[in-house]
Amino acid sequence: MTNIKEVSILVKWSGREYHITDLTDQDTVAVLRHEIFKKTQVRPERQKLINLKYKGKGAEDSVKLSNLELKTNFKLMMVGSTEQDIEDVCHKPEDMVEVIDDFDDQDDKKEECIEESAIYLAKIQKRIKEYKITEMNPPRPNKNLLVLDIDYTLFDHRSIAETGAELMRPYLHEFLTSAYEHYDIVIWSATGMRWIEEKMRLLGVNNNPNYKIMFYLDASAMISVHTLDYGVIDVKPLAVIWGLYPQYTASNTIMFDDIRRNFLMNPRSGLRIRPFRQAHLNRDKDTELLKLSKYLNDIAIHCKDFTKLNHRKWEHYEPRK
Ligand SMILES: [Mg+2]
Repeated sequence: MTNIKEVSILVKWSGREYHITDLTDQDTVAVLRHEIFKKTQVRPERQKLINLKYKGKGAEDSVKLSNLELKTNFKLMMVGSTEQDIEDVCHKPEDMVEVIDDFDDQDDKKEECIEESAIYLAKIQKRIKEYKITEMNPPRPNKNLLVLDIDYTLFDHRSIAETGAELMRPYLHEFLTSAYEHYDIVIWSATGMRWIEEKMRLLGVNNNPNYKIMFYLDASAMISVHTLDYGVIDVKPLAVIWGLYPQYTASNTIMFDDIRRNFLMNPRSGLRIRPFRQAHLNRDKDTELLKLSKYLNDIAIHCKDFTKLNHRKWEHYEPRK
């Protein structure tokens, strides 16, 4: 890992400067564009990077930053419009999040082996060093770790409702109460911390007397990876938690998310939960969390090493007698 260098670039756009720091020289131009998007909201395909050259021509997305021989604090000139600007002059854009979700979970897609890649380990190290966790409750001895997504996993965040309770996945509190017996619980959502706190308050998860949440992680604990199947995406690497809390490892950690690519770094530790959508229609029949309570309980009691499990077949799990 010693030969991976951090890269920082100053992007000049629309009369303002944006400091892009979350990069290494092993990242591609596509990852750079993704990071610029996060800061400016100009979508990658709309970014015109004027002076980013490779061999005398505009640098393509697949080129590694190390090949561009950029000076420290290189000033990159960009031209491009945000979706908001475009919306203002034309019509409403499509809902990007939904569109992206559509190509998720063709389950047989082969998983790329990115877990061990040095470039991502460097990014994870950076998160471990710099991400500030606010621990609400301390870890307890000899517990497993359960990491939970929010949107569509615990909560239907798109349907319209008067109260949070209407959009809550059925049996949420029962599920968390049961899981808490064997698991310390972390909530990890790809949104900002303010929204996470707000949602957890709305659902009454933050102060339920029957269980305690250890801490919340937000989008800025995620890392960007460049994959063959999906292009550049943000993922939730469990190593960020494992680096800070060595008592948790792949042997005792499980993560639930409705989007499989979120656990691309830890495919064996992730369980893809069926999304909870259209709360008003599905509130009476969704029993996913009840069934998952039983699974969590079974594996906590009967399985000493979670890496031996195949979470894709969780519904057929039979504890060995
Ligand atoms: Mg989700």
